[in-house]
Amino acid sequence: MPKVLITGAAGFIGSHLCDKFIDEGYDVVAMDNLLTGSLSNISHLFHLRQFEFYHHDVTKFVHVPGKLDCILHFASPASPIDYLKMPIQTLKVGSLGTHNLLGLAKEKNAKLLIASTSEVYGDPLVHPQPEEYWGNVNPIGPRGVYDEAKRFMEAITMAYNTYHGVETRIVRIFNTFGPRMRVDDGRVLPSFISQALKGEGLTVFGDGEQTRSFCYVDDLVDGIVRVLNSDYNLPINLGNPDEITILEFAKEVLALVGNPNAKIVYKDLPIDDPKRRKPDISRAKSILDWIPMTSRAVGLENTLPYFKDKILT
Ligand code: UDP
Repeated sequence: MPKVLITGAAGFIGSHLCDKFIDEGYDVVAMDNLLTGSLSNISHLFHLRQFEFYHHDVTKFVHVPGKLDCILHFASPASPIDYLKMPIQTLKVGSLGTHNLLGLAKEKNAKLLIASTSEVYGDPLVHPQPEEYWGNVNPIGPRGVYDEAKRFMEAITMAYNTYHGVETRIVRIFNTFGPRMRVDDGRVLPSFISQALKGEGLTVFGDGEQTRSFCYVDDLVDGIVRVLNSDYNLPINLGNPDEITILEFAKEVLALVGNPNAKIVYKDLPIDDPKRRKPDISRAKSILDWIPMTSRAVGLENTLPYFKDKILT
């Protein structure tokens, strides 16, 4: 059996990766310090012989006994309010954590795939964002702790690839959604759906004219597997290019949930909030033959029951 280590395994994307790699016949070593992740996302896997869980912080030395074929580094606070609350942990997991995992990959002769982000483009001046764009990041702004940790992560990963010959892969993940997002993680989709279900005001920040492009988690996971299995070691954008303003998105959620008590309320725009974001996915198309298959409408239909279950029961 091939064996994979997944960090951030109890988080939103990490837990979906655990399911996927179990399905693909891997032995899965799941690691998480449970800072933002939740065991309930992976507890359905605990009875499996092919699955083991390590409660461990990857910013400390990482030891995994025996062979390891690949490592997927998905540990990090990932929502703006989380990394504002945990700036040092966010910086450490992207830098020290990645360094530890590169050392482990080198030792085990394993392939390492890292979860980078559209945040490396900052508040982009090029639209849509291709991988060749270097970005527009404020290093000392509130989001800098995440953006710069991820940029350092890419730099050290390329350095280990070039100087130590470690096989590496880099995915730049754009906004992704689906079941198992933390209800209170502060990101726009969990916030809007929770507010709509509870009949509270949907908190649109600024005038709501800023845009995002939302990818359903199953499409993302499919893209990640394709990147891992490819021989391409430069960054690849993964995301859904279907762009929408946040105000339009709020209206979509209101229509979907259909709670007449829920309305829109406007709040201040957070500092350095990117004005427009949409992935250029030509590279993923040509190299991986990948495009997202799930529309936002279908993805939202699949996601709503999870939030109803969490909030209304
Ligand atoms: N946003 C909003 N209301 C909320 C949460 C977020 O209007 O309750 C906006 C936020 O200002 C940003 C967009 O929605 O423009 C996406 O925010 P999110 O925190 O989901 O992730 P980001 O893409 O900024 O990392």
